[in-house]
Amino acid sequence: MRLISTSACPHDCPSTCVLDIEHDNKNIYKVKGNKDNSYTKGVICAKVSRYRERTHNLKRLLSPMKRVGEKGEGKFEKISWEEALKIICDNLQNIIKKYGPESVWPYFYAGTMGLVQRDGINRFRHEFNFSGQYSTICNTLPQAGWMAGVGALMGPDPREVVNSDIIIMWGGNPASTQVTFMKHVQNARKNNNALFIVIDPYLTKTAKLADIHIKIRPGTDGALACGIMQYLFDNNKVDYNFLHQYSKDYEKLKKHLLKKSQTWASKVCGVKKEEIHKLANLISKTKKVFIRLGYGFTRQRNGSFNMHAVTCIPTVIGAWKELGGGAFYNNGGIYNIDKTLIEGLNYKNSTIRELDQSRIGPILNGDKSALQNKQLVKAIIIQNTNPLVVAPETLKVIKGFSRADLFTCVHEQFMTETAKYADILLPATSFVEHNDIYVSGGHQHLTLGPKLINELGDCWSNHKLINELSRRLGSKRKVFSYSEEQIIDKTLSLSNLGNLKDLKKKKFLDLQPKFNKSHFIDGFGHKDKRFHFSPIWKKNDKAFNLKFNLPDHYDLNENVNKNTPFKLVTAPAHNFLNSSFTETDASTNLEVKPRIKIHPSDMKKLNIFDNEIIEIGNHRAKLKIHAQEFNGILNGVTVVEGIWPNEYFIDGLGINALIGSDRPEPAGGAVFHDSAIWIKKIKIS
Ligand code: SF4
Repeated sequence: MRLISTSACPHDCPSTCVLDIEHDNKNIYKVKGNKDNSYTKGVICAKVSRYRERTHNLKRLLSPMKRVGEKGEGKFEKISWEEALKIICDNLQNIIKKYGPESVWPYFYAGTMGLVQRDGINRFRHEFNFSGQYSTICNTLPQAGWMAGVGALMGPDPREVVNSDIIIMWGGNPASTQVTFMKHVQNARKNNNALFIVIDPYLTKTAKLADIHIKIRPGTDGALACGIMQYLFDNNKVDYNFLHQYSKDYEKLKKHLLKKSQTWASKVCGVKKEEIHKLANLISKTKKVFIRLGYGFTRQRNGSFNMHAVTCIPTVIGAWKELGGGAFYNNGGIYNIDKTLIEGLNYKNSTIRELDQSRIGPILNGDKSALQNKQLVKAIIIQNTNPLVVAPETLKVIKGFSRADLFTCVHEQFMTETAKYADILLPATSFVEHNDIYVSGGHQHLTLGPKLINELGDCWSNHKLINELSRRLGSKRKVFSYSEEQIIDKTLSLSNLGNLKDLKKKKFLDLQPKFNKSHFIDGFGHKDKRFHFSPIWKKNDKAFNLKFNLPDHYDLNENVNKNTPFKLVTAPAHNFLNSSFTETDASTNLEVKPRIKIHPSDMKKLNIFDNEIIEIGNHRAKLKIHAQEFNGILNGVTVVEGIWPNEYFIDGLGINALIGSDRPEPAGGAVFHDSAIWIKKIKIS
């Protein structure tokens, strides 16, 4: 008999849509958006509505395997779980004995966003004092910038945009990466005649839907923000009462902006002076300006500073206090989930090193500073991520995973490129085959994702593997015997969010804070309750804080020069989600192939034609790709959409080979949209 059950989309997307899934106990069928959820409103993206294709895909891994070919070759033979677990435990025990526990690095990310199946690997890590993971690949850059000014990871309810006069999507493409937000934008335009403005380096699917698209040079948002604020101060359009009551250092900001001009801003960011003037003038006319901040514009070496600069705009006009006003980046701070049980926080040893996830290339190649001058990583256990494709500086990552002395265990749903380097490859369940709970960065719901169908083949959930490995390696802790449902139930209760029985009935909880809290009427998140125009970026580093003490354009990026005259943006593809969905034919057919978007005048200069195979590169690597003529972009800027697996590229090397794995200020991160490249026509000899 077929049933319809409610679940949550597990993917790394701020929408975390509430789903209605048709299923029996063996198969899933239709997947739709839940209409009762006030954020999802029945809308989901096309790729997830095709989820049956992903779950019941013939390419799913269904048995444990051991590698029989060379690393990377993809040759494996089936083995039993018993044999696989024995090989893993024997290897880990030998490595721990010889090199110490910090030579083992459990590595994970957001292949599923469920708290149990994603973060449980930390429980295993902390039990055995394995190396920690500093998770920088996604939100470190934007978060550092947001927290610098606002001081709390929350903001006005995104559902409020229906009351906004102006909605600005700054550096994000929700029509492709967070489609539910667009439903709220549509309602605001229909019901409130709201103006929708998109600020983005290229004409994305979202920009095509906008009333105004501001095309900006990548990594220059701080200059645009300063240009706007300069206009607001100059024309006396700032809310001095708000500034006085709620902010710190606004006089300093005013003085600082006197030294700036729209001519300067225009020169830096590539947006015409008249356009900056028009945008600032629109913003000056209403306080119901809602700035939805994307992650994209922060994936730069100066990304955190740019995020901070943009959050200063709603503060200057006092937009935060209005319904439909303010800015929103992420709601991670509203849930207060107690993860003690899931992550084993009560026995975490804080003296253990934390290795930077985005620097996996240098780390696996023995870079001393990336390893914090400690021992080499000798074993890596991977869940929920595909670093060979998604991490920066691919050549270093490949070299690292090719090391004969590195023991690699990968727990995966598909034969990813990382999986091909595994010594032991284990089959993982998909979200409909296990239990979990999900919170959302983009809205305010906690949602239950119950197990709906039997595990396919011999697949194990991440939770089951973590518990089994921990027991076999000698842990006697009770937490490693808890079932998924037990750990969810206890976590809800520890977090004062009821229990599993109630959540099963309710399906999701709306945890939106009250208006005064989310709009910071009771004060911003810092101790002094004020918005900080002049942030403390680093505790105990006065010189650093002084250097970056006010919103500005900080020239830290990989600039173009005569050898590498183009900026490269590696934006998300409409039909993929990071490297997920590159395994489904429907998504790859729709995306066609890796292509680089180049402005027609740049193509003309280079004597390149549409669909021609060209070579692009920089000091890190070079690769071949098809050119795509595209006039929705500034001269000198190029875009490659999608984290295509390396094997889809003509020479088998993908776009992240051109991205640096250096550590940006002030807190680290991955600078995916901050590379300078050359482009060459391939000469036929
Ligand atoms: S929009 Fe995002 S959260 Fe919603 S179904 Fe698609 S990938 Fe999942």
